[in-house]
Amino acid sequence: MNDYLVKAYAFNGTARIYAASTTNLVEEARKIHDTYPAASAAFGRVLTASLIMGAMYKEDQTLTIRIDGNGPVGKIITIVNAHGECKGTIENPHVHISQNDKLAVGMIVGNNGYIHVTKDLKIRDVFTSSAELQTGEIGDDFSYYFAKSEQIPSSVGLGVLVNEFNEVFASGGFILQAMPGIKEETITQIEENILAMKPISELIKNNFKPEDIINLITKGDHQFVEEMPLKYLCDCSKERFLNGLSSLDQTELESIISDGSPIEIVCEFCKTKYDFSLDEIKEISKKKQL
Ligand SMILES: [Zn+2]
Repeated sequence: MNDYLVKAYAFNGTARIYAASTTNLVEEARKIHDTYPAASAAFGRVLTASLIMGAMYKEDQTLTIRIDGNGPVGKIITIVNAHGECKGTIENPHVHISQNDKLAVGMIVGNNGYIHVTKDLKIRDVFTSSAELQTGEIGDDFSYYFAKSEQIPSSVGLGVLVNEFNEVFASGGFILQAMPGIKEETITQIEENILAMKPISELIKNNFKPEDIINLITKGDHQFVEEMPLKYLCDCSKERFLNGLSSLDQTELESIISDGSPIEIVCEFCKTKYDFSLDEIKEISKKKQL
């Protein structure tokens, strides 16, 4: 199954639901960052929720989401746009704890800390809203974030499965948000439907598509409005890092030159290496003096 998400309105427009299948991109993120199983699950859940959240925005708007808990995995950061593209970093990818045969995401992320969402809506300044982590299981944390910071009652389901070779073989999620005018009985019905569902990762493993997941939540009472392919994509380039080097001050550049060896910069999102020769660095320094 390709990675994609679908958006639907349900129950006469009183709820909106996004469901996503993200197995390939989370496996790609695992390979890039060499995450161990529980870290793959934590990273995959954050990437999935971030992509869904990104789809709530438009045009060139972007979100930077930081999960900063007190667990051993450290900070997880994702950057997403409104077109289904994401990239991310994870501070300690080599972390793994399992408990009762389950990847212990909450234990490695920690339940003491914050989720920060920085929105660049391309209007004046960027702004950040934050909420305390609840369990570190990511789904609960996003759900609480939506309720507290955006005053939108939401239900968030996320899941990642890893096989015996430590590869990601099922990943996906959904976010359901209540809209004004939702009836109490609809909320009860949604809760019952979600409770009756198998875990998201199990569903994806069994080839349930995002459309099928929405169908389980609404029992058919919805209209699909949008479909979007999803991918892990880093937009770095040598040019961009060159600009970064140009922003160093002259003393820093001179100290690199006097060290006498070329430098290598590794992109933190995709691990691509960029080499800069001494001549290139001298060129940057010369241009700055003009
Ligand atoms: Zn990159």
